[in-house]
Formats: sequence, structure tokens, C-alpha cells
Amino acid sequence: MANQVGHLHVTYNNIHNLIKECTPKIGDEFNPDLMVAIGGGGFFPARVMRTFLRGVTKNKTLQIQAIGLSLYEPVEGGNEDQIGQEVIRTQWLGPNAGKLLLGKRVLIVDEVDDTRKTLHYALSELKKDVEAELSTRPESEREALRAATKFGIFVVHNKKKPKLAELPRDIPYVITIFIARSNGKTGNDRYYAGEDVDDVWLDYPWESTNIEEHDRLAMLDRSRKSGQ
Ligand code: 5GP
Repeated sequence: MANQVGHLHVTYNNIHNLIKECTPKIGDEFNPDLMVAIGGGGFFPARVMRTFLRGVTKNKTLQIQAIGLSLYEPVEGGNEDQIGQEVIRTQWLGPNAGKLLLGKRVLIVDEVDDTRKTLHYALSELKKDVEAELSTRPESEREALRAATKFGIFVVHNKKKPKLAELPRDIPYVITIFIARSNGKTGNDRYYAGEDVDDVWLDYPWESTNIEEHDRLAMLDRSRKSGQ
């Protein structure tokens, strides 16, 4: 990424602890019925979050569904349609996607919110699945079902930078509450982020083929940061 300087290595323990800190709030305020993990970076965070959510939301079977999205190189000044073309689906919910989502509190989980294009795409497409399912239901039931369907978003890291896509705000059933761990409200009240970070490239442990070396670099990054 041309405009990004530096790397920050994060460890499994860092991520585990960030998720641990955020989860009580997410359990209290959003209380998800279902998680949709965006692969591959959202898989580990979703699995860890489920462990902590189970402690908060007793007796709930929290399913984790997976979707796979991949981002093309950004187009300068891209509009909404272009964003849709830049993100490609490598995996999606099955033919019953809308049924699965309708009436649920759905928490979308990813590891990092960088340009926000991926989250924008995921939310817009999941909305289409819900609308398709709603269109099969009697008109008299639609309003209540739509109102009962809510989306939340959790990312481990939110990069502090101008975003290239806005999360859709025209969706009545999108209620997401975003709170950053370190400094309270981020001003964006539509998702939860584990931690706000500078615009650096984050190296995640699951991408490493040598975890000891990765952890060593993470320690160096941390001591460099604390020496700043
Ligand atoms: P977006 O720009 O759409 O917010 O992020 C797209 C995807 O790019 C993320 O889901 C993630 O997989 C990848 N990505 C963005 N920034 C980083 C980063 O700093 N480190 C890593 N490992 N992946 C990133």
C-alpha cells in the first residue's frame, strides 16, 4: 500500500485481549444471535469472540457463518457501483441466506477496517438477501420482520484514516454501535472496533509462517512504540 508507512505486528494474545475487553459491551448493547465472519481475517476473531459472548449471552447457540470477500486495487474516486465491482465474493451464505438472517441480530466480524469498502460491500449484499427473503413474506408481516433484523459490525482494528465508503445509512434494520476501546466513542456510532490504529500495515499472526519470529517482531514494534 503506497500511502502506508511502517508495519505493526500484532500477536494472538493482543487480539485475544482486545476482544475480551470489547465483548461485554457488545453482549450488553447488541446481543447477537448470529455471527458472520468475513474470511479469512475475521475467522479467528469471531471464534474468540464467541467464547467471550457465551459468557455474557447465556444459553445462546451462537452460530458463526462465513463469507469470503476479496478487494481489487482501488479505483480513484470510486462511487458505490465501482465499490461493488472492486470487491469480489469468494464465498457466500447458501441459498437460504435471507432466511438465515431475517429477524436476527447479526454481528459481522472482520479483522480490520481499512478503506471500509469490504464492510460496505458485505452490509449492502446482506441487506439484499434480507430484502429478497422479505419479498416472499406476506406484506402485513414485513415491517415487523424488517425491524427485528439488525446488523452490527465488529472489527479488531480500525485504521484512523478517511474512509472510501460510507456504511449504508438507509437501512432501517441496521443498528450498529461502534465503540473504540482506548478512547471511548469514535464519533462513528455504527460499529464496534477493538482498537483504533494509525494507517500502518498490520501483520496478523495467522499470516505468519514463523510465529516465534512474528512475536519477536511484535515485541520490537511495541518497544519502539513505547519509546516514541
Ligand atoms: P478494506 O480496505 O475494504 O477496509 O479492507 C479490505 C481487506 O484488506 C481487509 O479485510 C483485510 O483483509 C485487508 N487489509 C486491509 N488493511 C490491512 C492490514 O493492515 N493488514 C492486513 N494483513 N490486511 C489488511
